[in-house]
Amino acid sequence: MTSELFGSNNAWQKTDALGNSFKAAPSCCFMERAFVNEMTWLRMSQSGLTEEFHRKYEEALEIVGSQLGQHHPIYVGGEPVFSDAGEFLDRSPIDTRTVIGYFQRAQRKHVRMAIESAKEGFERWGYLDWRKRVGVMRKAADIMSDEKFLLAALITLENGKNRFEAMADVDEAIDYLRYYAYLMEINDGFVKRMGSVYPGEHALSVMKPYGVWAIVSPFNFPLAILTGMSSGALVTGNTVVLKPASDTPYIALRYYEILIRAGVPKDAVNYVTGSGKELQDEFLENEDLMGIAFTGSWEVGSMLYARFSSKAPRPFIAEMGGKNATIITESADIEKAVEGVIRGAFGYGGQKCSATSRLLVQRNVKERFLRRLLERLPEFKVGDPRRRDVFMGPLINERALKNYIEYVELAKKDGRVLYGGKVLKDGEFANGYYVEPTVVEGLSREHRLWKEELFVPILLVKEFDTLEEAIEMANDSDYGLTAGIFSKNKDDVKMFFERIQAGVAYANRIVGSTTGAVVGVQAFGGWKRSGSTGKGAGGVYYLYQFMREQSQSTYD
Ligand code: NAD
Repeated sequence: MTSELFGSNNAWQKTDALGNSFKAAPSCCFMERAFVNEMTWLRMSQSGLTEEFHRKYEEALEIVGSQLGQHHPIYVGGEPVFSDAGEFLDRSPIDTRTVIGYFQRAQRKHVRMAIESAKEGFERWGYLDWRKRVGVMRKAADIMSDEKFLLAALITLENGKNRFEAMADVDEAIDYLRYYAYLMEINDGFVKRMGSVYPGEHALSVMKPYGVWAIVSPFNFPLAILTGMSSGALVTGNTVVLKPASDTPYIALRYYEILIRAGVPKDAVNYVTGSGKELQDEFLENEDLMGIAFTGSWEVGSMLYARFSSKAPRPFIAEMGGKNATIITESADIEKAVEGVIRGAFGYGGQKCSATSRLLVQRNVKERFLRRLLERLPEFKVGDPRRRDVFMGPLINERALKNYIEYVELAKKDGRVLYGGKVLKDGEFANGYYVEPTVVEGLSREHRLWKEELFVPILLVKEFDTLEEAIEMANDSDYGLTAGIFSKNKDDVKMFFERIQAGVAYANRIVGSTTGAVVGVQAFGGWKRSGSTGKGAGGVYYLYQFMREQSQSTYD
């Protein structure tokens, strides 16, 4: 393993008196294993394998479709556990008559057991040489990569993503596993030699894991985000209790199984399902829980954050909502901007924290931009996401559908609906939560819809005169997750990057004006109400959050 990590010449690898290793060579001479993104669709389509992509995905849909409707336990220390409180049904949003599976309604005592198990697991996993943990995480990535079509098909069935979005979710998960392994390597396990002032003084900075973490994840990137948060915790030596969203427990179970197959000890990872509300007190009050990594709404995240930190300072990594703006200036390439905005606003039905939800268009190009937007929208088909030509599948659940109906009513009352606004109920839409992508203008800046995260496919439009005004409007939000601009003017782009209050900012991005961050390329994290730490997932600072520093000094 060591030679794989450090190339054929590992003479640069030094070990101190306590067995801690550190890098002694200048980085120019050091052979590190490179990180490469998975990017399945891009690679296959560029290699002429488009049809193979579709064939493999469709075969996987058949296989996964035949495995639905089973009863699944939670796992504590590797043991299956069934709850006295019974089960809940996980239904497909594509067609709610399809039961994905039955999952345990875990109780507080199960969370307690899971934390206890993870605490025991920490005794082994936490003290394991970091290179071994890196090897296990890489193995998990390889298993995931081998099985990616099955995983993508399951994501489609369970949360309604189209095949490209579902595969991107799996790719992102694989990337997290490999990228964080890579970060451990290029940082030498986060052991650094420090300076010395006294004769014979040898000082090291050693980053160490905290212990047990809860990983609480949302439905919309049910594999990527769960994997991202938990692999960050695990590779740095922490142990975890996974608590997935109740709309997507099955893909989370598959992930749990992959970790076990890859060699994560059975007590180092535990899998618990059920209502967050019912389980929250154990997560908040159990003093053996050393940290929480949460991705979800501001409403839930801010409440957990405040309560979790009240007893003692414990890390709480929260990634929360967004109300992301895209600015279209007069010099924008209108075709590119329209493509980017449609993908940014309506990809996965606007159910992305990074979705473009506020569109600011310079007054003198507004009419031209909107005309092209409305002309092109019908090309982006709504329908059963299992079909290859479908862009937008269903909303996740009935609550999201009710929200959409309520928001459209409000938009009609207080503004103008320029496109969409309907719930689709006929034919293939009869048993799912299908709605039209919707474009609205005429709402005031104080309007509830302009301020709140909607998380459904509704794009709000406003005009502006100067870029300063547009940036001021974009920044006038409690959230600060992502933002975009389309402009051919370099000074405009410079000013945008200088002043925009968002963790992730894009200029002229066609694949999604505010969406689609790639691990190792765009560190993904929010400012203001969008995030608690200012360090993005898939970025160079992410792993530090799961460790605390110990200064170790020895004297001759
Ligand atoms: P949610 O807040 O409803 O749920 C997130 C997770 O928290 C789920 O696992 C849920 O079961 C759990 N939970 C809910 N209430 C809880 C409680 N009281 N105690 C403990 N756990 C609880 O979010 P969601 O609907 O699953 O996801 C959508 C939200 O997630 C949106 O706001 C979106 O912007 C946000 N999100 C943010 C990012 C990001 O990186 N910033 C990424 C994806 C999603």
